[in-house]
Amino acid sequence: MVVFESDMFEPSKALSREVVILEGSRSDLSVVEKIMLKRALDSMKNAYAPYSHYKVGAAVLALRGDRVERIFSGCNVENAAFSPTSCAEVSAIDAAVSNGFRKIKSVLVVTDSKLPEAPCGRCRQKIIELGKNAEVIMASSRNKKILKAKIKDLLPHHFEFF
Ligand SMILES: [Zn+2]
Repeated sequence: MVVFESDMFEPSKALSREVVILEGSRSDLSVVEKIMLKRALDSMKNAYAPYSHYKVGAAVLALRGDRVERIFSGCNVENAAFSPTSCAEVSAIDAAVSNGFRKIKSVLVVTDSKLPEAPCGRCRQKIIELGKNAEVIMASSRNKKILKAKIKDLLPHHFEFF
């Protein structure tokens, strides 16, 4: 079990006993995290979700080399065939990699559901491959509640080919 240290966030008692997820509010976010939230909310508005009506936006803080940081955002893009559907996190990560940014420092995901939601299993694998120590920030467009967790806690025993 990993316990995060933070002055601003209190461990959530409502969630998993094995993984400590920090609970706070939007006002606790750093300046960069607030920008990520804005970008994710903007992308969420572009979500193409005619089937699930579940809109999601994501923003990734990614690195090119060791110094150049940039935020990439994305939204979910559904498809009538379902299989080609892309999660917002995937859209954002693919945009980062397409621009030469291969290290993920953090991912912010925002949904239009009542409570912040964690990335799906596929996205957790996608995040951890490029960001073993990445932080995942979860937000809802309906309220100011924020959850934070380390990706390695959200995806123990992740797949590694090499
Ligand atoms: Zn996903």
